[in-house]
This record gives sequence, structure tokens and C-alpha cells, in this order.
Amino acid sequence: MNSLIVSCPSCKTKNKIPGGKQHLFPKCGKCGRQIDMRSLATPVELTDTEFQSFIARVTLPVMVDFYSPTCGPCKSIAPLISKIAKDYLGRVVIAKLDTSCNPGTAMHYQIRGVPSLLFFKNGKIVDQIVGAPPESQLRQSLDSLSG
Ligand SMILES: [Zn+2]
Repeated sequence: MNSLIVSCPSCKTKNKIPGGKQHLFPKCGKCGRQIDMRSLATPVELTDTEFQSFIARVTLPVMVDFYSPTCGPCKSIAPLISKIAKDYLGRVVIAKLDTSCNPGTAMHYQIRGVPSLLFFKNGKIVDQIVGAPPESQLRQSLDSLSG
């Protein structure tokens, strides 16, 4: 899992925040002040080894972008995925999985092409988009997932 290095806005201490904890109102390790993640949030990068336990543990709905670094349409929606990670912070956990390094999870969910977006609620798939969706369609799916 990726983590973010964030400077505390009040004491300037650098904090390391795991990607999967961005939505849990992280506090500065030194001064204890809450760090506002809204402009900083980034997709959670998951791997085969942690995928199932992460999906089972998260209480918010989760969207996972199954992508490959060499795929053109995957690259074209990457900025949109990064943007919605900020926009939906606290409502939907936005995650991504590189299928070229993590074939086990892709096989488990029978991913046949990338990008594939899977929407999870309580650990179960409730929606799926194959291919790169327009922003409006993606937002619609996320709104209904979190509603
Ligand atoms: Zn601080």
C-alpha cells in the first residue's frame, strides 16, 4: 500500500499517512491536530497480498480501478481517478490495483480487460464498469454507491 508524506499545517512536522487511512481523519503525530486531507487524497494502491483483508475491513464503499501501466485507456482515465479520490474522500474509498504485478486478484474477480472498475459495498461487488467511462457516468455510479 502506498503512503503519503504530509506536512502538518500547524507544526510543519512531516507525517506518513497510509493510503488506506486517508479517510479516517488522520491527526498529526506530534501536535495532535487533525490534518485536512481533502486537497491531498490520492487513490489507495492495493496489492494481491492485502486486497481481501482491506476490502473486508473498510466500512465505506470502495471503488477499485483494475489497470495496467501499459494500457492507453487506463492512462487516459488516471487523472480522473486521482480527482475523484479527492472529491469522494469520506464517502467512497478510491483504490487501484496494477494487474500486471497483481494477477491473483484480477483472476479472482475474472477481470478480462483493463481498465475495469469494480464497486464494492460490505465486501461484495455491487456494480462494475468495463472500459474507461466518461466522468458523468463514473460520478453517477459513485453517487449511487455512496447514497
Ligand atoms: Zn502538527
